[in-house]
Parts: sequence; C-alpha cells; structure tokens
Amino acid sequence: MTKITENLQLVRQRIDAAALAAGRDPEEIRLLAVSKTQSATAVLEASKAGQRHFGENYVQEALEKMERLAERDVRWHFIGRLQTNKTGSIARNFHWLHSLTRIDIAKRLSDQRPHGTRPLQVCIQVRIGDEASKAGVSEADVAQLADAVANLPGLDLRGLMCLPPVSTDQAIQRRNFAQLRHNLETLRANGHELDTLSMGMSADLEAAITEGSTCVRVGTALFGARR
Ligand SMILES: *Cc1c(COP(=O)(O)O)cnc(C)c1O
Repeated sequence: MTKITENLQLVRQRIDAAALAAGRDPEEIRLLAVSKTQSATAVLEASKAGQRHFGENYVQEALEKMERLAERDVRWHFIGRLQTNKTGSIARNFHWLHSLTRIDIAKRLSDQRPHGTRPLQVCIQVRIGDEASKAGVSEADVAQLADAVANLPGLDLRGLMCLPPVSTDQAIQRRNFAQLRHNLETLRANGHELDTLSMGMSADLEAAITEGSTCVRVGTALFGARR
C-alpha cells in the first residue's frame, strides 16, 4: 500500500471517529484533498485510491493537473485567493469555489460560467477569529453577499467556509467553528437553502466536525509537507 493510500485511510478514520463521537453520520462529511504544490502524480495516485474531490489554490497549477487527470472522475474545488483576472478560468474549469468574498467577482464568475453546464457550487468565505490578515468577508457583510449571490444564475450558493487563525487549543478551535455554524444558521433562518460548512484542516478537523463541518479540507495529513 502506498503512503497516500495509507494516509487516506488514516484521515478517513479520524473523520469517522470524530463524527461518531459527535453523534453524527460520517457519510455527511466530505474529505476534500488539498493538493496545492503537490505533483499531478500524487493527485493521480490519490484518485486511483478512490479520492474524488481535490482542492487547489493556484489556477495555473490546477489546470495542469486537470489535464493530467482528464480521464479520471474527479471534482475540482478552488479554495485559494481569488484574483479578478482568473475568474474566467475558474468559471470554466472548476466544480466548486470555497473562497468567494466579493460581489463583483461573483458577478464575473456567473457571467463566465459556460451556458448549459451546472452552476458553479460556491461557499462564501467568512473572516472568523478576528484576524485582519486572513481573507474573508466580515460577519456583518455575509447576509448581503449571500442575498446577491443567490440571484446569480451561474452560481449555486451552498454554504460558508472559514480559515481561522491557527490554534492548538481545542476550545478556541471549537469556538471559531461554532461561530461559522452560527452564521450558516442565520442565513438558513433567512430563507437560504444551504448544506455546506467547509471548515477544518489537517490539524483541527476533529474540532470542526464536532461543530458541524460537512467538508474538511486536508492537505499535509494526506500528502505530507508541501514543497
Ligand atoms: C492549504 C489549505 C488547506 C490544507 O491545510 P493543511 O493544514 O495542509 O491540511 C485547507 N484549506 C485552505 C484554504 C488551504 O489553503
């Protein structure tokens, strides 16, 4: 068994254990393999081991891997910082986007999504944990952005994402993730049909699952340290 196959099993076990401990169905939680800076060969290996969803942060790098994996049944998620000049590539090539923070970018993506394809599945990235350096829309502005995105035909708003400041303290991790869940519940109460909480990474996926994550984004625990 290869290292990546073994790591996939270990991470899946962590997800399942955390879900069961929280009284949740492990099937509700998607593992998104974050393959930024990893080779196309590593991604192919993970795909052959049964992994279907991959997260990428850099458009050009992702396009090269998409070409290499064109024959595989794979879903591509863009999770990196969005630049206006990259929206066309994202709209044409990705299935999901987790890092939406601006309405002007949302409009471009919707316009650029090819007709006849399924809308781009999107999460709004919310700034949680009060760290000015991390990207994300402020909690005060989430509702307005969600209302605007819901009206765009090329986008399908699925939920929220966060990338809180790193902490080894489980209580702090949980507080931040609970905060994102609270934001999702507020949007739902206002009529948005949302099913996705994209939160939790290699170091804090257990806390995220305890607080309701439906998608953990895991890089180093699967592929090892980034190059
Ligand atoms: C790199 C990255 C991850 C994965 O982080 P690991 O700690 O390697 O699991 C998850 N989410 C985003 C947005 C990232 O940029």
